[in-house]
Amino acid sequence: MHCKSLWIKTSAKCINVNVKYMYVELLSVLHFLFSFQNAGDKENMLNILNVLDELLSAGTDRRIHHMISKGGSEALLTALVNSARSFTPNYTILLPLLHLLAKVGYRDRQIGLKAQKADAVLVVLGLLRQNTENSRRAAACLWVLRVFCSSVTTANLLGKNRGLDVVFKLISPHSTKHLRTVNSVLQRFQIYVNCRTAVAKGYIADLLKLYEDWHNNDVNLKNIPIRRALLHCLQCAANSAVGRDALVAEGGISLLFQTTQTCLTMKGLESLVEPAIQLMRKCNPKVPLPLTSDKSVFSFPLPGQPVDDWDADLGLYGKVCNCCLSEDDLETDVNKLRPQPEPDRTLEQLGQYVRLCPELHHDFQDLDSSSEVDESSDDDSTLEGDLNDETQSDQRGSDLPSDRDEHHLHTSDFHKHYLNCSRRGQKGHSSMVDRLLEKYGICIPNHDPRLYAATAANTKSIAGYSILAFPDFWGHLPPQEQEPMAKRPPHVQRKKVFEDIQRLICPEDIINKVIFDMDDHSPQCTPDMCPSSLHFFSKFESGNLRKAIQIRSHEYDLILNADVNSSAFCQWFYFEVSGMVAGVPYRFNIINCEKGNSQYNYGMQPVLYSVRDALEGRPHWVRTGSEISLHIYSHILHSAFSFYTLTFTVMFHHDDDVCYLAYHYPYTYTTLQTHLKMLEKSVDPQKVFFRQQNLCDTLAGNSCSLVTITACPTSRAWKHLPQLRNRPCVVLTARVHPGESNASWVLKGTLEFLCSSDPVAESLREAYIFKIIPMLNPDGVINGNNRCSLTAEDLNRQWLMPDPNLSPTIYHTKGFLYYLNSIGRTPLVFCDYHGHSRKKNVFLYGCSMKETLWQSGSPINTASLKEDPGYRTLAKTLDRIAPAFSFNNCNYLVEKSRASTARVVVWREIGVLRSYTMESTYNGCNQGIYKGLQTGTRELEEMGMKFSQSLLTLRRNAIHYNSRLIHHASALLDLDDRLLDHKSNNCFEDDEPPCMEEIEYSSCSDPFGANELDTEVNGNTSSEEEDEEDADICRDGKQRNNRKSHLVPHYLKQDALETLTIKSGQCNGSNGYLY
Ligand SMILES: [Zn+2]
Repeated sequence: MHCKSLWIKTSAKCINVNVKYMYVELLSVLHFLFSFQNAGDKENMLNILNVLDELLSAGTDRRIHHMISKGGSEALLTALVNSARSFTPNYTILLPLLHLLAKVGYRDRQIGLKAQKADAVLVVLGLLRQNTENSRRAAACLWVLRVFCSSVTTANLLGKNRGLDVVFKLISPHSTKHLRTVNSVLQRFQIYVNCRTAVAKGYIADLLKLYEDWHNNDVNLKNIPIRRALLHCLQCAANSAVGRDALVAEGGISLLFQTTQTCLTMKGLESLVEPAIQLMRKCNPKVPLPLTSDKSVFSFPLPGQPVDDWDADLGLYGKVCNCCLSEDDLETDVNKLRPQPEPDRTLEQLGQYVRLCPELHHDFQDLDSSSEVDESSDDDSTLEGDLNDETQSDQRGSDLPSDRDEHHLHTSDFHKHYLNCSRRGQKGHSSMVDRLLEKYGICIPNHDPRLYAATAANTKSIAGYSILAFPDFWGHLPPQEQEPMAKRPPHVQRKKVFEDIQRLICPEDIINKVIFDMDDHSPQCTPDMCPSSLHFFSKFESGNLRKAIQIRSHEYDLILNADVNSSAFCQWFYFEVSGMVAGVPYRFNIINCEKGNSQYNYGMQPVLYSVRDALEGRPHWVRTGSEISLHIYSHILHSAFSFYTLTFTVMFHHDDDVCYLAYHYPYTYTTLQTHLKMLEKSVDPQKVFFRQQNLCDTLAGNSCSLVTITACPTSRAWKHLPQLRNRPCVVLTARVHPGESNASWVLKGTLEFLCSSDPVAESLREAYIFKIIPMLNPDGVINGNNRCSLTAEDLNRQWLMPDPNLSPTIYHTKGFLYYLNSIGRTPLVFCDYHGHSRKKNVFLYGCSMKETLWQSGSPINTASLKEDPGYRTLAKTLDRIAPAFSFNNCNYLVEKSRASTARVVVWREIGVLRSYTMESTYNGCNQGIYKGLQTGTRELEEMGMKFSQSLLTLRRNAIHYNSRLIHHASALLDLDDRLLDHKSNNCFEDDEPPCMEEIEYSSCSDPFGANELDTEVNGNTSSEEEDEEDADICRDGKQRNNRKSHLVPHYLKQDALETLTIKSGQCNGSNGYLY
């Protein structure tokens, strides 16, 4: 006792409660440790360990790291080895030592190597072997071994010495004894499992058996942590391919499926469901897409390139996040943010664009006659002649289908009689069309089915489509009511995963029959051949279904065709489906989508068009589908990224209907060309100057239209012409991305408004010359692409150096803008209309040098830079007048990754201050009067109208105010300061929160942080539960201090504490202990 007191007093001198000196004191204690490496004074050693533990527990990790840096780990390891090697290991010392080593070692990255150097690895394994029956000692050894295993070589060393066998022996089938050991073994076991040995030794099977055993016997649900830990072990095993294969081979998926079904029915087992589902998904064998080649069905020979060359430079666009704004991506080079109005071509080359400004050279001598027929526009008189011919042939026709046939929508007849645009000369066809239109047709503004069919004959698709999709031909009106966003029922994804897993465990239920295949030209599943299947079709403009496989009686896997000349970019879809039974839920899985986290997980639905409904007077695209989920499924094709599966369930309203399903409201190239013809006819040529011209031909030989709209001079008097010629230009473009059909609907709204007789539209025409290129990527739209042109490149990344041969529409749009610039008519506004798949609302992206520099944290003093703040005006106005628009979603940052987009290049090279991308949601709004509703074509068109209206604010001083205009545009012109009610709830919501059911696919992470480990280690010191042994350790748990660890036997500790307390009190005048 004397010796002990003396020693403690000595050490206590060093231990000052003043934390400032703590490190020094720690080191002193360590030196003592060294000194007793060979000594056997149990009490002294315990005291030192106690002091160390108290010191380390009291502070932050910095203390431990400091101790490690001063050789603390080595000292502990040496002490451990020396103590363990003595003839009869003294666990009163060893146990606290192991605990301390676990805590310190956890924070020491080198601990594995240090342990090997000190020969401690096998020593601890030996201790474990000796103590498999003693849960507390075994747990302490396991913690230390786990800490050692942070080094791969240490783990290998353990593996070679059959460490796994020892560990596995500790996991027992269900029992009420040794629960703590089983649990802690399981927690540690995970790290050993992820290796081939585990698989080779059959541990996966054993683990599965154990899981089943605990599942069956843990009826009181008292051991959920053990069951969870078993799952976690399996998850770690499944990190390797061999582990996954073994798990599948051992019937693991089936077992997990069944046990999880039971868990779902019992309260309190929720925590087992999610890990089990993750495990099943992880192990569900990956299969390639059921295609012979993932390349697009369509290839197109590019000028100057061998046909097969495109394969090599397939970009990984699918993995590039287009929504995240990264600060690193912001342009910080001032020179790249300054205007650079040097054309990329010669003035002579710009001369060709003179023809695209007919309004500047027109003499308006013929104001009374109809507008001139441009050489590039289609000759309407020929067209009407064709139709008349057909009408005559109809009258001769004797094989008119009966009324009865019209009610039976057999798709083959349907395509032959109703929708075949290439057979217009044949008998029967147009008569049927005329009869149908006469009987069921509804007046759809600016649409004419006959004109559509005639126009379609001139549309050049790679496949040479001859059949029209009914909705595009027939036309459609927005539904009466706006449609709310779909509610996501709880656990949709879970339900779908279970269904997917059942494919594996009940293969006999799976039909797996190819119903439609674009690659296979032999007649596929015709209604006669497969009377019980749905029928699919997509060989029409913008259609892109490649393959349909029946999985179960009412479930189909669908594969989309990749963009032409590529094997990627799938997202847009448009196809026809028929042969359905009404009221039955059909599940569709589009299994090769490339973007995750789209609005489909946030209330967005695909759209559906029913021919039967249309013929009954309801020609609407409606939002449809329930149980919608976009998630990663097992299919894998590219090694670089996973595909997503969009799954949704549709209940059709009519038997044997012909329906169309699409990603969003389709808007084909033929729709645009038809619409432009209708518009041209609709305007009063005395008032509206409307010209459609050919900007250039596309690669496939389609015309890229440029439309000019402005007001004709009020009189033919020569003095009015200069007024016209001085109007500033507004240049609008859209649909560079074919999958963004919403952009076309917005642009349709703009075009129709600008051609209307609304007084604001009149004022706009008098204020501006509009130059509109409504479809920058006709070939992409026609052939059902999602993102690219025929070159398999994103045309909106070609603006810096557009290739005249490969990207003609961009090359000439840019050339035309340079031309306007060269004649001193730089546009006042440029806006490129787009669709955004991950955000709600409509918003603008603009360009601001100052905001970019400021946001990027650039050291450049932005105060000295001059910038016209006028780039913000339009967004402010739109926020006031356009219900779908959200000012808060706008930004004006210039990103490096966007350096070659229209917005940035037009801003910087053409010098347009107000150069924008307008993004429209595919889904709906989360603010304003449309909050919670999905947008329809009506709202998209309204947005286009509002955008044109907002332009008036830029010319407030130049316009001619009359009473009609003031009445219509008081809010617009800021004459009325009242807040508009649709903005009553303009809250800011940024990007979507992560989907509630997002499933973690990262590799098995260590679920135990340092604090968790400490808590466990501390808990192991005095467990009431199964302290059958260690009689020399006091079990009095009542005096435990929960904030600190309890490494040392209580009776010793109390002595030490008392002495130290007195000492420290004496030293500092404080009565606290180490705090
Ligand atoms: Zn886009």
